[in-house]
This record gives sequence, structure tokens and C-alpha cells, in this order.
Amino acid sequence: MTKAIRHVLGISGGKDSAALAIYLKNKHPHLDIEYYTCDTGKELFETYELVEKLESYLGKKITKLKAGENSSKDPFDHFYNYYKGYLPSSNARWCTKTLKLDPFEDFVGTDPVISYVGIRGDEDREGYISKKTNIQSIFPFRKNIWSEDVIAKVLKNENIKSIEEIYSFSSKSLNLDRIKQIINQPINTKFVLQQKLNLLLDQDIKEFNRVVFEYLKVTDYPLSREKDFPLIENDEVLVREDIFKILRESGVGVPAYYEPITFEVDGKHGQYMRSRSGCYFCFFQQKIEWVWLLEQHPDLFEKAKYYENQKDGFTWNHSESLTELADPIRVENIKRDFLNRHKNKPKSSLLLDILDDSESEGCASCFI
Ligand code: SF4
Repeated sequence: MTKAIRHVLGISGGKDSAALAIYLKNKHPHLDIEYYTCDTGKELFETYELVEKLESYLGKKITKLKAGENSSKDPFDHFYNYYKGYLPSSNARWCTKTLKLDPFEDFVGTDPVISYVGIRGDEDREGYISKKTNIQSIFPFRKNIWSEDVIAKVLKNENIKSIEEIYSFSSKSLNLDRIKQIINQPINTKFVLQQKLNLLLDQDIKEFNRVVFEYLKVTDYPLSREKDFPLIENDEVLVREDIFKILRESGVGVPAYYEPITFEVDGKHGQYMRSRSGCYFCFFQQKIEWVWLLEQHPDLFEKAKYYENQKDGFTWNHSESLTELADPIRVENIKRDFLNRHKNKPKSSLLLDILDDSESEGCASCFI
């Protein structure tokens, strides 16, 4: 018997996945989505609070996945011991795989799964997501809802004729001639995949989605088992402002660590906050975020320092230890640098934009 397809959505503790859960519940209430979160044991309190608020809004339990679940230690400490005190870093990121991706893949097993990912329309990244063939990722906030492997298959030169046929058969677009022209232009070094994709989406997003959905029927992708898929009729593109609006209007609210806090240096005022969810000691943090942790969650800063001190020469962030960073003169310098770097930036109504640059680094499993 063919296995039924599962729809899943991972709540990272960040604003985007939370907003996606709310958005899909409201837009597509008939999709039976299973929510899960991977608890590293080292999340901020605000993340656990967000998960609780979401459960009550969604009216559903969010399954808590824990790596090493029979251990007496929390997931991070369990694997920290298992790896004999080897701490993760951006070059050796065992944490994302072991604490997030592996538990997720165990959770879905071999079932065909659609996994909804909250990467926004104003982001240019695919993120660190499962590449298992039974898991198909869909990005509802983007103009292009499909994953890069699907797009590469659909638009490869060998498929020009079949894609043209599907368009000819199903399209009601007034632009069909132009669409056919684009389809028939082969991809090469002067006309790359992304250009072709953008041109087709610019003609008609829904038409393009219908064609991809039709094409997938002759593949092994999980969506090939579905008769309908409502997301193909969705051509909304959601950006950062929309995410905040969804969170605020739903009553779930924005996780507290995104709220700007005013600091003072040299008589001038600036604002800091955390730019993402994830472990309190995450090595993707900027210096100013470490200062935020030091001043807003001194107990967690001390815990982060404890790990660092267990291993000679290891530092969570570039070029300095947390003991050095916590020096009051260094803290002032970090704040001053931060203010200077951002003084010419136009003031955003959201303020989170001051940490904007950092969002490109990191991974979808941890931060969306
Ligand atoms: S949030 Fe950072 S430290 Fe935690 S699992 Fe993700 S990458 Fe690793």
C-alpha cells in the first residue's frame, strides 16, 4: 500500500518558522501539518516560551525532538561528552547535524514528507536542510516555492520539450508565446538557470507552479503522490515586515530576544538585540550579540564561558575569548564600533535591520 504523505514544519524558535506555522494554519487550514522542534537543551528561555505560545495558537502539540533522548544529560551535553569535549564551530558544525538534522530525519523515517521551510522572499539562501529523497522541502514565503534540486531537474535542457508540452496543454496564460520562447532558450554560461527561472516566474508564478507540479508526477518526489497541492496557487511573497506583522497580529508575538534594548556609549544611544534563535553560545553570533548576552543573560554568558574554558585555545567567536570580550573597555569598544558601523544606516521601523547582515550566515535548521 502507498504510504500517505506527511506534512511537517520545524519550529526553530526563530521568527520566520513561527510566522510560517501561523500563516499556513490561516491560509491552508485543511493541511494536516505536524509541528516539531529540535531541543538542543541550550536554547534561550524565550524560545521555549515561543513554542508554548505557538502550541496554544495552533491548537496542536509541537513534538519535541531530543537527540540522545535516553541520556540523563541534555542533548548538547550528551554529545559534547560523546565527542570527548570537542566543541562545535563554524568549521566543525557537528551540532546542527547531530542535534537537529538527525533527530528530524529519525522523526520522519522513510515516510514521504513535505517539509515547509520559512525562508523569506527577501532572503537569498537555501539553508542547511535535509537532502533525503523522501523529504521534499517547500518554501511558501518565496516567489519560488521549490527547492533547488527540483528546479534544476525541471529546467534542465533535456526537458525543454516536455516542459513546453505541459505549458501548451495546461496554460491559460496570455503570455504563452513569450513563455515558450523562454522555455526554448537553453541554459548555458550566458543564460543561467536562475535567469531562466526568474523570467518564467515573472510571467506567471501560479502557471509555473502548476507546470512543476505536473512534471513532478513522473518523478519519485513525495508530491508525485498528491492529486492536489494548494501551495501551487499561492503567489504571495513575504518579507521581513510581513513576518513581524503576522506574529504581532496573531497575538503570539515576537520572541523577546528580537526586541531592541537601548544602550549608551560616549553619551550616544544605540540599540542591540539578538538577530536569531538557536543556542545561547552559538558561534554565529556577532560581537554585539555576545555583549547583549553578557548584559541581558549574564548567567548564560557564564555558562558559555565555562565550555570555552574547558578547552585550551578554543573560542566561541573569532579571535578573542569570552573573558577578554567581557572586559568593560572591550565591551565599550564593541558598542562604539557597532554604533559607528550603523550610524549611516537608514532607521528601520523594525530596528532588527541593524543586525541584518548576520542573517545570511548560519543555517535553516537553526535560525529560520
Ligand atoms: S544554534 Fe548554533 S550552536 Fe546551536 S546547533 Fe545551531 S549552529 Fe550549532
